[in-house]
Amino acid sequence: MSILTAMRPESLFPLFAAISTLKGVGPRVAPLVERLAGPIVRDVLFTAPQSLIRRTATTAALAQDGQVQTFVVTIDAHLPPQRSGQPWRIRGWDDTGFVTLVWFKGHGPHLERQHPVGARRAVSGKVERFGSEIQVAHPDYMLEAERIDEIPAIEPVYPATAGLPSRTFRKFALEALSRAQPLPEWQDAAWMARESLPPWREAFERLHGPEGEIDLSPMSAARRRLAYDELLAHQLALAQRKAGKRAQPGPRIVSGPLAEAAEKALPFRLTGAQVRALSEVRGDLAHGERMSRLLQGDVGSGKTVVAMLAMADAAGAGFQSALMAPTEILARQHYETLAPPLEAQGLAVVLLTGRDKGGARAAKLQKLADGSAAVAVGTHALFQDDVAFKSLALTIIDEQHRFGVNERRRLQEKGEGVHLLAMSATPIPRTLELTVFGDLDVSRIDEKPPGRTPVATRAAPTPRVPEIVDRLRSAIEGGAQAFWICPLVSESEKVDLRAAEDRAADLRKVLGSRVGLVHGQMPAAEKDAVMQAFVDGEVGVLVATTVVEVGVNVPNASIMVIEHADRFGLAQLHQLRGRVGRGMRESSCVLLYDPPLSEVAQQRLDILRRSDDGFEIAEKDLELRGGGDPLGLKQSGFPAYRLADPVAHRDLIAVAADDARLILARDPALASPRGEAVRTLQALFDWKPASGLNDAG
Ligand code: ADP
Ligand code: MG
Repeated sequence: MSILTAMRPESLFPLFAAISTLKGVGPRVAPLVERLAGPIVRDVLFTAPQSLIRRTATTAALAQDGQVQTFVVTIDAHLPPQRSGQPWRIRGWDDTGFVTLVWFKGHGPHLERQHPVGARRAVSGKVERFGSEIQVAHPDYMLEAERIDEIPAIEPVYPATAGLPSRTFRKFALEALSRAQPLPEWQDAAWMARESLPPWREAFERLHGPEGEIDLSPMSAARRRLAYDELLAHQLALAQRKAGKRAQPGPRIVSGPLAEAAEKALPFRLTGAQVRALSEVRGDLAHGERMSRLLQGDVGSGKTVVAMLAMADAAGAGFQSALMAPTEILARQHYETLAPPLEAQGLAVVLLTGRDKGGARAAKLQKLADGSAAVAVGTHALFQDDVAFKSLALTIIDEQHRFGVNERRRLQEKGEGVHLLAMSATPIPRTLELTVFGDLDVSRIDEKPPGRTPVATRAAPTPRVPEIVDRLRSAIEGGAQAFWICPLVSESEKVDLRAAEDRAADLRKVLGSRVGLVHGQMPAAEKDAVMQAFVDGEVGVLVATTVVEVGVNVPNASIMVIEHADRFGLAQLHQLRGRVGRGMRESSCVLLYDPPLSEVAQQRLDILRRSDDGFEIAEKDLELRGGGDPLGLKQSGFPAYRLADPVAHRDLIAVAADDARLILARDPALASPRGEAVRTLQALFDWKPASGLNDAG
């Protein structure tokens, strides 16, 4: 039981009861409700309708085709099916004409009993008009005429799943609502008044009882209120976790002559952004508290050298550090970059991957255990149980989202109060940064090293592939190298894989044997071998599903072709494109799409053609695409919000973060009356991060 659970106020008990306590949620329905909403009553309360049905009262004469309408009719006749396959019909009439009600499949005798000839019924459903004939198939409501008020004029529609119609779920939602008690207000009263936000309970009443389309909009006051509650609960949790981590001591590392010499020996000068990031890292390392910092920067922005100098700092202070990369080839590239400048300062650097076996491996482990190696670079091999460090003080995780929480933790636990520097090339827009990394300090490298040539980017329809292949051939003959990305786009990985294989085969027909293929289902060693052949220049065109490693540096590669570009998030396209334009050659990127291109798709591709700034691209993409997961945020550890929409409500994120900080600064123990209310809020959301860095170290 978590602390929060233990502290749950009594007022929330009804909401934390199992869904099976709701009337009508039996063993058959419970799993469906759980899949749609979650296991407890609160989850049903938190499930918002997606649209609404308006029912207008009408008569047979005025009924409109396609509308959902309500009639009051007198039953005139039952018309059983004449042949099998025909429906059961009931004819009813009002003062203006007849309405035929239709049921397919054996309801007959039951219907006759329930709705005898002569009875008056209020009937509601979707109208179909065939000339003068009015028909309603499977009416939504068919009640005694006096009960017409029970038919809602506006009815919210919930996301339905097979076996759980929206109307059934609505009943559960209303019951869940009836269990929600008014709670003490945790929001700032002045702010609420300024923003005209309703109290919590009222907001839920509106959520489940919308009075019009406006109430379904994320911009409605009720929705914003609830979104803000969720964002505040999350930001509070993050702020508390951050404070908790800060309180842990970490080895004090002060930069010295060793790192200075290493920096001087670099063949280039650090960019302003690198200098800024490095000084932020150094501030943390020297502080005596454990560092938890994220280093964000576009592909090619030069994160590695910042990491390298931090490692030099650690070594200069007598500590060891470890850099972990998600693949062997990336680890090797890092090793090749880091080792020479560090070794020039007299430091021993060890590369440890799954490939190391037997005596050679034992020798490396010995160097880490006895401290003779100051720096380790490697893969998952680094956190294995038999790897021990003499004095590990700094871990650096490259492509952090590719590691699980436990993997990062296992590495960090190989020392005392080990500092964490995570690196990520996924551009998270500034507005969203707080929700993804609210418990980390973030440094951004928002400037590229000088001398990069922009990648000429253009879009082309798929039918022009032969032309593109033609040009590709002459480029390859001239010594260039190219990536050709065949992304996973269909539901079936097999089908996608075949598409990549077919493409590789096509290219081989034109380009011969210098075409390589890598995909996610290949054994790692085989994949690495092909990648290595590409790095070494033996392979001219690398056909790849998106598994191709983001960080791999192949300076000679200057052409990037991306199929189905219209189906990618812009941020991802930008990352892919970032793999070219690193060398001397003029680089190009071709975005292939299946015509016709929608206007939004056109705009999106235009953004890429115009901008080369990952953060700007991500922000624009967010604006254009609206909801969903436009940036592939889920894989970056983005929280799964129930009530907040990270795009529509992004203006609230920073406010919630500020508010959380303020609340905790004023009342760290949350002991004041508002603090107590805030604890109720936290208990209500009982925030558990979905994944991501949030849990690390
Ligand atoms: P990433 O941020 O993608 O990890 P890297 O650290 O791999 O980027 O850097 C990409 C390339 O840029 C490397 O070849 C590196 O040597 C070079 N580089 C890094 N910083 C600078 C700089 N300040 N000036 C020139 N080149 C740099
Ligand atoms: Mg990198």
